[in-house]
Amino acid sequence: MKRFEEKVVIITGGGSGLGRAAALEVAKEGAKLVLVDLNNDALEESKAVILAADPNAVVELVQANVADEEGVKKYVQFTIDQFGKIDGFFNNAGIEGKQNLTEDFGIDEFNRVVSVNLNGVFFGMKYVLKEMKRQGFGSIVNTASVGGIRGVGNQSGYAASKHGVVGLTRNSAIEYGQFGVSVKAIAPGAIMTPMVEASLKQIGGDNWEEAGKEFVSVNPMKRFGKPEEVGHLVAFLLSNQADFINAVVIPIDGGQSYK
Ligand code: NAD
Repeated sequence: MKRFEEKVVIITGGGSGLGRAAALEVAKEGAKLVLVDLNNDALEESKAVILAADPNAVVELVQANVADEEGVKKYVQFTIDQFGKIDGFFNNAGIEGKQNLTEDFGIDEFNRVVSVNLNGVFFGMKYVLKEMKRQGFGSIVNTASVGGIRGVGNQSGYAASKHGVVGLTRNSAIEYGQFGVSVKAIAPGAIMTPMVEASLKQIGGDNWEEAGKEFVSVNPMKRFGKPEEVGHLVAFLLSNQADFINAVVIPIDGGQSYK
């Protein structure tokens, strides 16, 4: 029996990087998917990639802004109308924001990053948890970051939002465990996705690949993580095999956060 047979999974940020990798992984194991993203072309591309891997996959797309409460209500209601339940929720959409010292960090940029990375995760949990409580089952995986469990520097908005994701995860986990629902977070290190590529291009320009090598030279494993490595972890955490794992934040970073 496939782990996600008859299961319904929502993935935000499903148009790219970690969201797409997790989508591919759970779709392979039978999940019916609702992919959410701001970028409609990216969503269509993810759907095409998933259908190329399995023409029978069930993939619905919802274009929505996770920072907007109405957008979040929209994708949750769509899922319930379409499938009647939510087994798994990868609450993952996020942005990195600009790099700056704290004294130079503008409040507009701070609020922009927090509104997606923290408000978006909060809204997602608010509406999905209500459904999962009603059902009496469900698993949520929030995307935090190494930057949510230790200091990285030059990232006031990102650090605040990702530490906030850890707090929201633990808070909701202890509230909803009694209803058969688990809430956990992942804390990825540097994983080679379009987000990381864009940020390396900001630092290194045409020499961004060299900049990347320098970037990972501090990692115990001396390499970037692969999106599919995160996809495997997320699939496990969303599956029933991880039902008793609750309130934890799991680094996937080659050991970087323990260095
Ligand atoms: P990515 O840029 O490849 O994908 C993010 C997706 O989220 C994009 O498709 C984007 O359109 C979507 N998105 C952005 N803002 C949105 C919004 N307001 N509403 C809906 N969708 C929105 O990035 P990624 O590397 O896959 O990152 C996914 C998550 O992982 C983010 O939360 C990021 O902070 C986190 N993360 C990534 C890394 C890494 O190294 N890649 C490390 C730690 C944490």
